[in-house]
Amino acid sequence: MMRQYELVDRVKRYNPNADEGLLDRAYVYAMKAHGTQKRASGDPFFAHPLEVAAILTDMRLDDATIVAAVLHDTVEDTAATIDEINSLFGTEIGQLVDGLTKLKKLDFVSKKATQGENFRKLLLAVAADVRVLLVKLADRLHNMRTLDHMRADKRVRIAEETVEIYAPLAGRMGMQELREELEELAFRHIKPDAYTLIITKLAGFKAANDAVIASIERELAQSLSERGIKASVKGRAKRPYSIWRKMERKSISFEQLSDIFGFRVIVPSIEDCYRVLGIIHTTWPMVPGRYKDYISTPKQNDYRSLHTTVVGPGHERVELQIRTEGMDRVAEYGVAAHAIYKDGRTASAKEMSDSSAYQWLRRTVDTLAESASPEEFLEHTKLELFHDQVFCFSPKGLLIALPRGATPIDFGYAVHTDVGNSAVGCKINGRNAPLLTELQNGDEVEIVRSKGQVPPAAWESLVVTGKARAAIRRATRAAVRRQYAGLGRQILERSFERVGRPLSDDKLKAALGRLARSTVEDVLASVGRGEMFSGDVVRAVYPDLETEKRPPVEGAKGPGWFDLKQGENLKFKLPNADDPSAIPISGLGSDLAVRFAPDGGAVPGDRIVGIMSPGEGVTIYPIQSPALAAFDNEPERWLDVRWDLEDKRMRRFPARIMLQSINEPGTLAQITQVIAEHDGNIDAVKMDRPNSDFTDMTVDLAVWDLKHLNAIISELRQKPVISAVDRIVA
Ligand code: MN
Repeated sequence: MMRQYELVDRVKRYNPNADEGLLDRAYVYAMKAHGTQKRASGDPFFAHPLEVAAILTDMRLDDATIVAAVLHDTVEDTAATIDEINSLFGTEIGQLVDGLTKLKKLDFVSKKATQGENFRKLLLAVAADVRVLLVKLADRLHNMRTLDHMRADKRVRIAEETVEIYAPLAGRMGMQELREELEELAFRHIKPDAYTLIITKLAGFKAANDAVIASIERELAQSLSERGIKASVKGRAKRPYSIWRKMERKSISFEQLSDIFGFRVIVPSIEDCYRVLGIIHTTWPMVPGRYKDYISTPKQNDYRSLHTTVVGPGHERVELQIRTEGMDRVAEYGVAAHAIYKDGRTASAKEMSDSSAYQWLRRTVDTLAESASPEEFLEHTKLELFHDQVFCFSPKGLLIALPRGATPIDFGYAVHTDVGNSAVGCKINGRNAPLLTELQNGDEVEIVRSKGQVPPAAWESLVVTGKARAAIRRATRAAVRRQYAGLGRQILERSFERVGRPLSDDKLKAALGRLARSTVEDVLASVGRGEMFSGDVVRAVYPDLETEKRPPVEGAKGPGWFDLKQGENLKFKLPNADDPSAIPISGLGSDLAVRFAPDGGAVPGDRIVGIMSPGEGVTIYPIQSPALAAFDNEPERWLDVRWDLEDKRMRRFPARIMLQSINEPGTLAQITQVIAEHDGNIDAVKMDRPNSDFTDMTVDLAVWDLKHLNAIISELRQKPVISAVDRIVA
């Protein structure tokens, strides 16, 4: 444990005018207050505030901050009171300790509302005096360094809180070193496997590249000193956490990373920075698009530096950061750098307030005053803290955090699976927008829903969140299954009707064992998919029918017959087009279990027949289709179907016609004109010229129904230039 004189020494090293007496009194007061208290590690508790103070002496902070660090846990954890501290150490220190005491009980990993409230308290406390934040961050850093002594579940919770709240806040304050150490410590507890993997790979990388790195460093230093520039050149490996984040973000392996190692060149003046840049760019070729000038345009958190990447001596990419000592301090300590003791006096809190990072904090707290609720405020602030996420709101103000690139579909699924599944459109900030719009920070997203909607399977590859992807897959699978089951039920209803026996779910349930299926839906879906034959289901439900061979039941629709041979659907003679006993077919598209024969398929009005294909459901053919001959020897695959279109002219159907025309200028124009005048769509035209007099044309049309198709055909036949028109069915 640090001794009294050691603490004073540490402060005096950067601040010879430090108030020794004050530091001594704080040391003794806190030591007595904590008495015999122990930390989880078994160490005396008092070691903790001393370590926190030591971290702050590294940042060269003023006496009040150091004393507040020594006292930071006394009011919350011991008999000490704020009044006592005010009277013993003055109100400046008293207020710092008070702010820290208020932050003590914040728990961010709780429900959203409390998280918002806690975050608000944190920022209010630190906005009053930024030194509260510096002590708080040092406190968190020491707790993270000693996290191993905590219970496993607590460790992960604290580590997550650190990554979510404290590390970004440190980053926003420009305290890059602190941020990186917090992230690395947390990473080890949140993703131990990934951490170990990256540490191992990093060690391997360093071992393999040691010589190269040393030579680049040497060459760089030499070439700068030859030109009279005093520079310190340091190689630096990327931190495990940022390596991992990059691997995750870009879905790449460690080996694919190109910027694991970089160099930092520190020079005395701004002018030197640009001279160094010039030397580097004229010595090695630069990689286009990688040069950034954060000196003329500093980052929001005051960070200044020149960044560039060049192709180095061994043809490897080398990343370089060039900056002055002052910029380096700001890069390392951020807002605290402004407090560094200088010119024989301690910088005041006021000077820190001049930093733009602190200005940001002030502005953020100002918006707090205007926010209606703590959540709203948390949202505001988080927006600026997290750069790889977008924060959007529901119309009711619910905050939804999504990865960058997320769409309203992701948003819907993040709110609730049902919302995602029923999404048909959306409004972003009150205006209609496509569901695939990339969401921006602060967008208010309203999902337009529709009952009975099934998410298109294509969404799966368009969303970015795993939750949405999994839910879409589940929903589309379930929908396909429901459609097969629906088709299966219709097939079975008609089959049972034909044999004059009732069908019920109870009867099917009783036969599940014989059918080797576990649920009624399984049976229905198997029949719908063509994997189980309706005849087999009938026999399983009514075993007494097994040996019977009989003529059609009286009253059954159609002049059909049936034969209960094993492994067959009941086969019927084809019904009339309006036979209600046939299975109704509603058309293309929505029904995945029903598809149409490709090229020259059926159009409404055609007499149609269905062919079952195991695993695929039913394919619809016009009755005159020559393709049907292929199924002649498989009667069990035939299915009676009829059209059932609720809304006429809601959807066009593909049809194919073949024309023979005289070769004359303007023939094609005449043909297309006739089709267009009759409201037909042309999907494709194929031309073939068998001799110099005639042209053969295959035209793929989209028509409403058979009547429509026939009208077009007869109109075409009237044209003198056309010698023949025929419909083609596949
Ligand atoms: Mn503490």
